[in-house]
Amino acid sequence: MKFAVDRSAPYVAGVDIGGTFIKVGILSPDGFVVHRTQLESQADRGFAHFVTRIGDALQQALAEPGLSAAQLRGIGVGYPGTVYPDTGLISGSPNIPGSQGSNLVTPLEERFQRAVLPINDASAAALGECRFGAGPEHGARDLALFTLGTGVGGGVVLNHRLHYGAHHQGTELGHMVVDPHGPQCGCGNFGCLEAFCGTAGILRAAWKRLQTGRPSRLWDYIQPFSGRELTPKMISQAAAAGDAVALEVWGEIGFWLGVGCVTVINYQDPDLIVIGGQIAKAGPPLFDAIRQTVRARQRLNPWPVDKIVPAKLGEDAGIVGAAAVVLSD
Ligand SMILES: [Zn+2]
Repeated sequence: MKFAVDRSAPYVAGVDIGGTFIKVGILSPDGFVVHRTQLESQADRGFAHFVTRIGDALQQALAEPGLSAAQLRGIGVGYPGTVYPDTGLISGSPNIPGSQGSNLVTPLEERFQRAVLPINDASAAALGECRFGAGPEHGARDLALFTLGTGVGGGVVLNHRLHYGAHHQGTELGHMVVDPHGPQCGCGNFGCLEAFCGTAGILRAAWKRLQTGRPSRLWDYIQPFSGRELTPKMISQAAAAGDAVALEVWGEIGFWLGVGCVTVINYQDPDLIVIGGQIAKAGPPLFDAIRQTVRARQRLNPWPVDKIVPAKLGEDAGIVGAAAVVLSD
């Protein structure tokens, strides 16, 4: 990193990069999103083009409200993989070809002449929630976040500061082992939380019940030749309508997440555990099962289960989290 964060500047940029879209937010120092924009990533056109797209998205986010890069304290960039802030190098991300060992920071610093701080996206979301999301209303200083999507991401904030880890691997809460004899995870290990609570695990939990021929509203969604595959969203819709199979699926997923939360509580004793990502939209059937499991299994520390809460930042989690990294520097 060639540039230092400019604390006197009035705005900060948060960039949320994914294989499909690059989202950029311009924020005030109190976390308010002043302007947001997004561009298609075009990640399949190579990494150099992808970094240029990130710059173009930033340029557009500044130009639309008539701002310049000089008005930014710095640029936080949330990335779906491991980042090494000292060098700007990143690990490979399956949705961003050519990313392995590439440099994300230098081209953006050269283009904008501002500090660029890269951060793992789930870690960014944890910091964003602690500073500007669910954290403030609970007075949270220490927080753990699970983000549920295709995989299970995680981040830990200690005393308002992000925990990076000695090797910048952050906190892969999704890869804590909850059952050593469980199914193999995408990481190669067996019985990780993600192997149960990632999208593939959720669908497996549903098919385990459906294959016995039990009646369920889910069959209506996936009639033969409809071209539709089962999705977690369908399971949420069916659960909201009271479907027994769908409710059992969220009960099972919530059980495993609850087991994960017990480990987090024993290890960290956080003020708050925040659960975000698309899958968390399953709502009460999921959260009730998580809290019930923690109530039953957390025996040493009378930890308040109402401090397991949904994330608050929603679609803005990525940009607010990335900006929060700059604001915390
Ligand atoms: Zn794993």
